[in-house]
Amino acid sequence: MSFEQLQTAFALSSRLIESKTFHDLNVALITLLMEIDNIKDVSSYEILGKRHTGNETNEPLIRKFPLSLDENFKDEYQSVVQFVFREGSAGVEKHTINDLPFICIYVNKDEPPEKLVLIQGMVNDYEFEIIKGLASIYEHQINLFDVKERDLLTKLHNRQTFVTTLEQVLDFYRRNMPSERSSFLAILDIDHFKQVNDRFGHLQGDEVLIHFANLMRKSFRHADFLFRYGGEEFVVIINQTDIQAALSLLDSFRLRVQQYDFPSGNITVSIGVTAINPITPIPSIIEIADEALYLAKNNGRNRIEVMDRSTKQIFSSDIELF
Ligand code: GH3
Ligand code: MG
Ligand code: MG
Repeated sequence: MSFEQLQTAFALSSRLIESKTFHDLNVALITLLMEIDNIKDVSSYEILGKRHTGNETNEPLIRKFPLSLDENFKDEYQSVVQFVFREGSAGVEKHTINDLPFICIYVNKDEPPEKLVLIQGMVNDYEFEIIKGLASIYEHQINLFDVKERDLLTKLHNRQTFVTTLEQVLDFYRRNMPSERSSFLAILDIDHFKQVNDRFGHLQGDEVLIHFANLMRKSFRHADFLFRYGGEEFVVIINQTDIQAALSLLDSFRLRVQQYDFPSGNITVSIGVTAINPITPIPSIIEIADEALYLAKNNGRNRIEVMDRSTKQIFSSDIELF
């Protein structure tokens, strides 16, 4: 390796190490990789395999990592990811899939959530070495961020990460005002969960929470951010849409929960929603969604209520909107 190449390698590594969050790390890695001449496309995924989804079928749960709120969330590489999930090994590997050359960075295989970075392009030996170097830093950093940012039980992002993410969402809208579309905050609370624990025990209760989290992963779009807020409460940030679409997404999730065969039988969920207004302070946004949730509980549970700062309640799932 020449002196210049060594300098480039160090410069790239330090840009990766500077990342403060999992999100920043992913954005940094994708940006760095896209700067490499022969790389045409890069996308990053989170995968939960059979053992961790409670599924009987071998269908992995795949979620594409969103680079920014306004990206196009189409994912043309689903079949490629499925192939690597079945055939690939941990580490950095070259594959030809559907006649296209790929380099795969596969991290935490069999240790959920697995991470896969899919790089499309025909790289030379020097570029391949750079990718391997970046991959080893990426893997190390990811393990640190998983401990810090994720909930141990469900592997969803935790409450601290939720607040940081909400700040980033607000920041996005402040920079892009006025915006045609909005984001929405939904707080989801499982109904009568204490009874599940009382009847089936805490361990079975934990299983139900894992199934619930995976149902969220299946039901919401790649563009939406999912969190475990604490206990049996979860949060979804539904991005770049309008209130009708957000509510229809939430209502179909509510129905899906109602119909799902949980280890403890049937459960239901109550949901409080508010629009994320970029000029409202974060604690107030959370408070309004919480108030809506409180209303959903008071109005009989297994329902959605919406509130915003000025009009308070504007929707209830009793009203036939869909
Ligand atoms: P509501 O419909 O009003 O929400 O009733 P609820 O029983 O769900 O609400 P409450 O807040 O009274 O009880 C929440 C229960 O969630 C109490 C606690 O035992 C349980 N819980 C919280 N965290 C966990 C966890 O990590 N694992 C398990 N198994 N249970 C949990
Ligand atoms: Mg609760
Ligand atoms: Mg509850």
